[in-house]
Parts: sequence; structure tokens; C-alpha cells
Amino acid sequence: TYTLGPRITNWDSQRKVWLNHNPGFPSIVNGKARILLLTGSTPGPCVKPVGDYYLLKSVKNKIDYCRLHGIEIVYNMANLDEELGGYWTKLPMIRRLMLSHPEVEWIWWMDSDALFTDILFEIPLYRYEKHNLVIHGYPDLLFNQKSWVALNTGVFLLRNCQWSLDLLDAWAPMGPKGTIREEAGKILTAYLKGRPAFEADDQSALIYLLLSQKDKWMEKVFVENQYYLHGFWEGLVDRYEEMIEKYHPGLGDERWPFVTHFVGCKPCGSYADYAVDRCFKSMERAFNFADNQVLELYGFRHRGLLSPKIKRIRNETVSPLEFVDKFDIRRRHAEIK
Ligand code: UDP
Ligand code: MN
Repeated sequence: TYTLGPRITNWDSQRKVWLNHNPGFPSIVNGKARILLLTGSTPGPCVKPVGDYYLLKSVKNKIDYCRLHGIEIVYNMANLDEELGGYWTKLPMIRRLMLSHPEVEWIWWMDSDALFTDILFEIPLYRYEKHNLVIHGYPDLLFNQKSWVALNTGVFLLRNCQWSLDLLDAWAPMGPKGTIREEAGKILTAYLKGRPAFEADDQSALIYLLLSQKDKWMEKVFVENQYYLHGFWEGLVDRYEEMIEKYHPGLGDERWPFVTHFVGCKPCGSYADYAVDRCFKSMERAFNFADNQVLELYGFRHRGLLSPKIKRIRNETVSPLEFVDKFDIRRRHAEIK
């Protein structure tokens, strides 16, 4: 059967030895576990040029968030494994990065169609000390309903450890394109509630794996729903004005969603579950909603949530450090905590 690479069995001890030999590359920096955010897109251009424009906005949004929070970022456009193309590509990429960057404690996967919409919010890593996979979802949908949307694999964190390599090995076998992926799709559709008939996808395969081998995996899986590690865009994007009026960044939940994910919009592809216009308009709103939080640091704001144009919101002064103290996002985060 299909494997992601040579089977590694002692990664935890190999990594520990490496970390001991390389004190210049610690896995914890200033008391914080080192995080690498991984995202990417197809090797070729989008079907329509506007798709590439939104990929650019999406990566700008991620660069801003990561820069402000001291997170490293990787953008991958290579298909590392012929067999695991499309949404399955994230598996070999994650494995490759884990093995090439032993200094990284967490790999954080984020789809290209997901945007950070709370620039202030930080992942509460202290809650996940005993866990290796952190993913947004609902235990009831997972265990009682076996729903194919119980978890969302568009955004998740995976610890760099042996357990995660084992999980990737157990997760990948439904992925190889062609007959295997087609046949596996039938099993998944029969098993999972609400799943349409199509080839095996990484999200369904993970849900299937966790349900069918619950005792083996679930102890180390944190199903998060206290905040929107992944937030479904419909029902969020039309409420941004209301959020601005009532709340403030830093909350991360339905009051000010951490992530807005454009599931079903396929901005880079040819088909979508939603009207194309509505998708792009909604993405524009989400991007500007987030970008306002970045621009505010520098004294600017978009003229409206649909406008690429900006306006000045503070006058320049001869003592700019006052503004630094007031608007620096890292400082504000520390205060909120
Ligand atoms: N992706 C990638 N390379 C590919 C295809 C997809 O890196 O060749 C990534 C991209 O970030 C995308 C994610 O995988 O957002 C999930 O793929 P999917 O086809 O579900 O796209 P989505 O609907 O999330 O845009
Ligand atoms: Mn997606």
C-alpha cells in the first residue's frame, strides 16, 4: 500500500538529540513554542486571473498576522508527491516540513481560502500541552452524527512528534489519485452523514480514521470550538459591521471571528457551490475587515469594507512613539490577556 516515505519509528528521540546538539535552534523561543504556518496553492495559475489576485490578498493577510505574532510562514506551490495532488498535498508537505525543521514544535496548516479576521487573537497553546492535533469541530457531530463536516481540515495544528508522523501515515492511504481515491470515496460517502458522492478527500478521511480508530487517536486530539480556528464564512461576513459596532478584536469567537474560511467558494478553481460574485464580494469584505486591523497600527483605514481605497485616521505627529505605545498589536494583546 501507499506510504508517505520510509517508516520512521523513533522521531521523538531523534529530534530530542538534534535539539540538544543545536541550542541555536530552540523549539521554544521567549517562552513560546515555535510555530510554522504552512499554506500554499496549485503549481499553475488559477482558472481566472481574479483568483490569483485573491490568493495574493490571502497570503498578504497571513504574512501580516504571522509577522505581528512572531510566527514563521511557508508558502508551498510544489506538488511534492505525484499521487497526492489537490487537497491531499498538505499531508506530504506537513511531513516534509516536520522532518526538515526539527526546531519547529507546531505545524499550522491553513488553506489558501481562509483569512485571519482577528489580527489580535492568539492561539491558546497552553490548552494543548497534552495534545498533538488541534482542529475545529464539534464532538456531537463527530461521534453521534458521524457528519462529514464534524471537523474542518482547512485549518489545524499538528505537533512535530512521532504521533503526528503515525497519524499522517494512517491518514494518507485513501489519497492516491485514480482508483484508490475513487473507491475510498464510496466508502466515505456510505459511512459519513451528509457526504455527497465524490472521490476521497482529506477531511472525510480524517473523520473516518478518528471514528473507526477512536481509542487509538482521540486522546491526543483537541476538538476546538471555543473560538473560530476555522469559521464558516456564511453567517460571518454579513455581520462584520455589527461586530465593529458591538465588539473588538481579540475575542476570536462569533463576536469577532479569528478565521473566516471560504468553504465552497473555490476562488482559484472553475466551479463553486456558491455564486462567484457573492464569494469574491464576501472575500473582499473579510480581507478589508482584517486589513483595517493592520492599517490601524499605521494610522489608516479602508474607506469601506468593499473598498481597496484607504483614508487617514490619525494625523502625523512629531512624537510618533506615543502611537507605537498605544497601537502596537503585541502590546495590546499582552494587555488583554
Ligand atoms: N492546495 C495546495 N496545492 C494544490 C491544491 C490545493 O496547496 O495543488 C491547498 C490550498 O491551500 C487549498 C487547500 O489545499 O486551499 C485545500 O484544497 P481545496 O481543493 O479544498 O481548495 P479550497 O476549496 O480550500 O480552496
Ligand atoms: Mn478551504
